[in-house]
Amino acid sequence: MIVIMERRATEEQIQQVVARIEELGFRAHLSRGEERTIIGIIGDERPLSVEALEVLDGVERVVPVLHPFKLASRDFKPENTIVTVDGVRIGGDEIVVIAGPCAVESREQIFEVAAAVKEAGAKMLRGGAFKPRTSPYTFQGLGIPALELLAEVRETFGLPVVSEVMAAADIETMRAHVDMLQIGARNMQNYSLLQDVGKAAMPVLLKRGMMCTIHEWLMSAEYILSNRNYDVVLCERGIRTFETATRNTLDINAVPVAKQLTHLPVIVDPSHATGKANLVAAAAKAAIAAGADGLIIEVHPNPDRALSDGAQSLRPEAFAKLMTELRQIAHAVGRRL
Ligand code: PEP
Ligand code: MN
Repeated sequence: MIVIMERRATEEQIQQVVARIEELGFRAHLSRGEERTIIGIIGDERPLSVEALEVLDGVERVVPVLHPFKLASRDFKPENTIVTVDGVRIGGDEIVVIAGPCAVESREQIFEVAAAVKEAGAKMLRGGAFKPRTSPYTFQGLGIPALELLAEVRETFGLPVVSEVMAAADIETMRAHVDMLQIGARNMQNYSLLQDVGKAAMPVLLKRGMMCTIHEWLMSAEYILSNRNYDVVLCERGIRTFETATRNTLDINAVPVAKQLTHLPVIVDPSHATGKANLVAAAAKAAIAAGADGLIIEVHPNPDRALSDGAQSLRPEAFAKLMTELRQIAHAVGRRL
């Protein structure tokens, strides 16, 4: 349920409503818009009646929220959320491109990629330290040495870093080395990990599970938000369908659907969505045209020798070319890049 306050409601009236909500055993979440304040009620509100709050001074109306996700819902917060990662704003007019290798493989590799993607206009660097691989016999990531390299490269190039967290036990180490925690597609429904990254109070990049609906994805975001971490960026990275021509199927609809349902920023990963380097540009352009707030793209100096996801990794030159093309698309839809 949400309580929409009157345009002229006083601070005292707002606080009285909050106090009443808390007295009834719920948590109140305030969203102060330019026009008016909306108070969201958090908890199992089934026993609560609209009348209990509608009678309070300053209340315009009380409306049930139609979706099971509340804090993530646009009903709760009509304005877009901007997530700031060490000064980089995701969700505003400017499209944010995050680029880098699937995994950190060596000092030379990560430094070379970072220099190239920064030069081309990427605002953040990606690089896996802990890799969720299908086979336990393939490269699992360098682990902590990779995090140390990421911290060093971030220092050198001034690029904020995102890296995937697979275990809650790694969160504190990651905090010291990276700026944003990625929850991978395979862990989107790892609810205990979601709660832990919620409590970690670090920005989170939440990838959509490859077999999850948009609603399930938003419910996963809700797990993080309900732990008082509001810095969540959603990432569509392709879903599994009957189609085998591509690694996954980019659900381009998910971008406008998610943007309608939630105030959180939505970005797209055209690398995992297609699985093929020669399809990445088309998918990236489509994403920006569809309203995505950013992209996360895999770039490797030598894709043939990559230890993971070489087939979908762009060479630095191809990435630079794509960035110039994306600027035109961004401009056409009223955004900057
Ligand atoms: C990745 O970003 O390298 C990755 C493993 O992504 P996803 O979780 O979307 O498969
Ligand atoms: Mn990858």
